[in-house]
Amino acid sequence: LTFTEASFPSYVTEDLLREKFEAPSAAQSLAWPSALSGRDVVAVAETGSGKTLAYVLPAIVHVNAQPVLAPGEGPIALVLAPTRELACQIELEVAKYAASSQLKHACVYGGAPKGPQVKALKSGECEICVATPGRLIDFLERGVTNLRRTTFVVLDEADRMLDMGFEPQIRRIVSQTRPDRQTLLFTATWPVEVREIARTLVRNNPVEFRV
Ligand code: AMP
Repeated sequence: LTFTEASFPSYVTEDLLREKFEAPSAAQSLAWPSALSGRDVVAVAETGSGKTLAYVLPAIVHVNAQPVLAPGEGPIALVLAPTRELACQIELEVAKYAASSQLKHACVYGGAPKGPQVKALKSGECEICVATPGRLIDFLERGVTNLRRTTFVVLDEADRMLDMGFEPQIRRIVSQTRPDRQTLLFTATWPVEVREIARTLVRNNPVEFRV
């Protein structure tokens, strides 16, 4: 696959070509066609495989294909990640590629003041939310945001989230998203716990690959 063959809308392709990457990574070549066609994805891929753009770009395309959000509605795309550091890194990639279509995004994580995160979720319409599970649950319980509009869900570093004991939070969060959502799961390892969460949460005949 080349970047121009990836069948992204031109605003994404132009951003991508500006990066001067040589070619899509294996994770990207495998994930993009499936994710862009609306299919679920289960990928065993490590950090450094280009996994972030493998799901961030399809997320942006998905959001742009949905009706415009009204104020007060929750995000269309949700990315769950285990740590503040990873969530912030993901949000940087989201910011880079969301700019050309002026999508609004927020990053939600614990161990930091809630005020700015609440503002990012509420000011205008936050279309893409990157979150660690604990703080997001807190915000959902307080009614800061909701997932009634969420139709694109990514579980990144699913194995690490489970190692950290986030399984109940992940299940509660995902159960609040729309049942007709598209779900993508990325994990570095493939133990039985991850297989079980993939089986129960990524239900729509996912494309599975390992890179
Ligand atoms: P990740 O695996 O998502 O953590 O990405 C690791 C690094 O690879 C990031 O700095 C990306 O900017 C970079 N990257 C992503 N896609 C490509 C690509 N196709 N070619 C070269 N570098 C890439």
